[in-house]
Amino acid sequence: MMFWIIYFITVVYWHVFEVISAHAFLNLFLCLFVFFPIPENIYKKHLITIIKNSLGVILGAVLLWHESYLPPVLTLWNFLIDPELRPSSTFLWRFFLSEINIKIFIFAVPTIIFSYILSRTKFKKYFGAFFLICFLIIGFTEKTSVTGDLFGNFYENESKKVVKFIDNPNNDFDIVILQLCSFAWADFNEVDYNLRQFFNKFDYIFTDFNSATSYSNPAVIRLLRSTCGQSTETKLFAEANKSCYLLEGLRGVGYTPYTLLNHDGIYAGFNQEIIKYGKAPQPLNNSELKLIQTNFDGAPTYSDKDSLLFWLDSRKKDPSLKTVLVYNSTTLHTGSRYIESPYLASHEQYSLALKNIISDLDSFFVDLKKSNKNTIVIIVGEHGAALKGSTIQPGTVREIPLPSITKTPVAIKLFGPNFNNEDGGEPILVNQPTSYFAIAELLEKIIEVSPTDKAQLPSIEFSPEAYPEFVSENETGFVVKTKLGLFYRLKKYKTWDIIPSSIEPRSQNYFK
Ligand SMILES: [Zn+2]
Repeated sequence: MMFWIIYFITVVYWHVFEVISAHAFLNLFLCLFVFFPIPENIYKKHLITIIKNSLGVILGAVLLWHESYLPPVLTLWNFLIDPELRPSSTFLWRFFLSEINIKIFIFAVPTIIFSYILSRTKFKKYFGAFFLICFLIIGFTEKTSVTGDLFGNFYENESKKVVKFIDNPNNDFDIVILQLCSFAWADFNEVDYNLRQFFNKFDYIFTDFNSATSYSNPAVIRLLRSTCGQSTETKLFAEANKSCYLLEGLRGVGYTPYTLLNHDGIYAGFNQEIIKYGKAPQPLNNSELKLIQTNFDGAPTYSDKDSLLFWLDSRKKDPSLKTVLVYNSTTLHTGSRYIESPYLASHEQYSLALKNIISDLDSFFVDLKKSNKNTIVIIVGEHGAALKGSTIQPGTVREIPLPSITKTPVAIKLFGPNFNNEDGGEPILVNQPTSYFAIAELLEKIIEVSPTDKAQLPSIEFSPEAYPEFVSENETGFVVKTKLGLFYRLKKYKTWDIIPSSIEPRSQNYFK
């Protein structure tokens, strides 16, 4: 009895505080089942009670999991048993310990005492009826969940989009694309780190860019396929039309492609996947660089400054007129530890890593200026670190690709003899919702115009219908924004659950 009182109080409490979305009808059924008394004179009453309670516990656990925003049990299990995907045990311990916080105790201790006392009084028989009324109220006030297609024409429209680079004989710009893991507006807000001064040095800022995923591999493949519109994640891991590969398109107009990582690229088959699904070249070998961090899986991480200088040296030895670099950095990834200060709490670690990455980029920009080579630098956040948790998803968990995780900065800056003295001023803001395709579109315009000074920077106007509000996705589910709000759907189910409006972040960035 006491167990069920605690169980249903928790369900109602979590539902009210939007931790779960309680299913009124199934809870009513469970309530009737567990509180319905077994007649005294029934044959083998004791055995039947044991069977009934065991069944109730199983049903209760399955129902609670279903009502939460947790991933399917099998997904979690596969993640934990796969040695390639599994994070280190130290990281897991640290994660679980950080999630056990004072709020849980504040709720749990009085609930247990209260339920214990009540289950020993004559009022206990009214509890079944009390919870039945609660679930009837929940049933009548239940938040919207919808079935059906919320994508509309999204994927159809996206499938028609393609950017083709046109060769310009005057174009001699190198292209440097810096894809930074765990780099989102919401994270900067969470650690209260103001990057306005840094971003103001850029020529273009995309303030409402959607990385469309909350994990690294799909993010980098999406970037490497940015010459086509947004596809489903399943299609990312299959051959695409030749025109969809960014580096192939740039090869076609005379670019020599490079890739470089500041990590070993082993986790989750990163290296193989960017080559196989993104048609990227084998990353440069920078394993001789000084190790400064280890990642959550123990992988080596090198400084961004050393890595980018390493590329710049290789570039200088390359006689090609135009090169394109796709660089991937995991400096900010959750669970990274500095060799010299390994015991920082997650927010301190993030703040320090953010400070370091910005200073490394600034230092790289100084070297780029010294090289005097025309270069287009594009910074793109791979996805956020999800530093700030919400009622439906704890901090640092990225299973549900919420806007706070996938809305990341994109900043573009031109370097070269006629651009190097022009730091500061007003960046051109692209405030409408965009994704990777917009980067390819702008890149194509810059190559086509091949500006010789800042005054010739192409303006950028996207037709509003060309970009949807928001569709993000990971392996198990989708998040879509419609006029009714944000919805989440696990791929194996047909029902879209509304995401509580309280968890949608306010303004995501400094520029709006
Ligand atoms: Zn990442």
